[in-house]
Amino acid sequence: AQDSWYMGLDFGTSGARVMVIDDDGSIQANAKESYPEGASADWARAWEDTLHHLLSDLPADVKAATRSISFDGTSATTMIVDRQSGESLSPPFLYNASCPDALPAVAAMAPKHHTVTTGTSTLCKLVSWYWHEHQHNREGGKDSVDGIADRAALLHQADWLAFLLHGVMGVSDYNNALKLGYDPAREEYPDWLAFQPFAGMLPRIVAPGSVIGAVTKELADRHGFPEDCVVCAGTTDSIAAFLAAEPSQPGEAVTSLGSTLAVKLLSTERVDDARFGIYSHRLNDTWLVGGASNTGGAVLRTLFTDEQLAELTEKIDASQESKLRYYPLVKPGERFPVADPHLEPCLRPRPDDDAEFLHGILESTARIEGEAYRLLQELGASPLTRVYTAGGGAVNDKWTAIRARVLGVPVEPSPQTEAAYGAALLARQGARQRAGSHKQMQQTAK
Ligand code: ADP
Repeated sequence: AQDSWYMGLDFGTSGARVMVIDDDGSIQANAKESYPEGASADWARAWEDTLHHLLSDLPADVKAATRSISFDGTSATTMIVDRQSGESLSPPFLYNASCPDALPAVAAMAPKHHTVTTGTSTLCKLVSWYWHEHQHNREGGKDSVDGIADRAALLHQADWLAFLLHGVMGVSDYNNALKLGYDPAREEYPDWLAFQPFAGMLPRIVAPGSVIGAVTKELADRHGFPEDCVVCAGTTDSIAAFLAAEPSQPGEAVTSLGSTLAVKLLSTERVDDARFGIYSHRLNDTWLVGGASNTGGAVLRTLFTDEQLAELTEKIDASQESKLRYYPLVKPGERFPVADPHLEPCLRPRPDDDAEFLHGILESTARIEGEAYRLLQELGASPLTRVYTAGGGAVNDKWTAIRARVLGVPVEPSPQTEAAYGAALLARQGARQRAGSHKQMQQTAK
């Protein structure tokens, strides 16, 4: 029988990665490419070129075996495109771009503390573009906004890249659409959004992983994909990275120990709390509850080199509790699990022995991680049962042991941490759902 493989494409901040997996989840192809120099002059072109380079460089037999494709992109990276051609009508608004000019208007339409009420939200980007366009039309003698919403469509980065392959305009997923204001519980745009004059620009929303359509004939010919290879709805980069760890039950979580500490917990209940910057993404019938602390590896970088870290770590007895109580931060201010914009970093008293000092920092960070999960549970999330670890801190076995002792649950490194792997899992899910519904149709026909 012919192989059935599934492709995930991750478009991050500095480059893109492709991973192709088989039915068992084994990686059959894996490649990455940085965006070209000067990409910022035309991001859309850079993403499109990088996509085609990655696909062109894959072996022909890998592409011939690919049954489905899915993308993840940076959250809140927003594109305004022509409905007919898919061409950008404005330079993309990057994930971290802020549109404070639109914030008062967005705050006036949305409920208090809604995720859209920050300047970097997708909705602020849309409103900012729309009103500038409106203004421009007026100055050109046209006093109507009619027509803008018929001509233009909003897509997230992952949606647009998928569009280049399937050619179906105006489709997104409910993970990417959260910062646009979509309500993933009710599966609709709330009324305060649905009746805005720009509502015609909003994409139709489907579940991540659902099949959107087959690759276009042109693309199948260009890259040698089978004609029935489908493109599935994607997700955001951080959710794709979470999916890569393959947590399956409510209570399972992924802690990312990078420059900062971020936690994501699979939960039967949804938790949202703007005070702590906690919000929930939908994942099928469960919720992915997440929050981010300012503590994390960045502080270690200011104190030790990675070599020193490894050497000092050797000397730590992870079974012993360090009594040192720090709050490691690079600068004042914390959001979660302590909401205090003025919280002072605390790294004192500093013992003479650097290994003891490091032990105190690792132990304190583990306590903060424990507080983070405790707070999520207090606010209604499922009790923690298991933690996977991603990020630079995951290599440190002593830290893992300290965290397991402090958290009181098993702590393991994630077998996979690449977002592209998570996107490939979504593609596999989509292909299987389609195969399942075909089978069902055949059975009903009999
Ligand atoms: P980023 O958030 O920048 O992507 P990474 O996931 O690459 O971060 O992780 C980098 C962090 O990992 C650094 O801040 C560094 O302090 C930390 N790190 C690297 N090696 C170790 C180690 N052996 N023990 C603990 N932390 C480490």
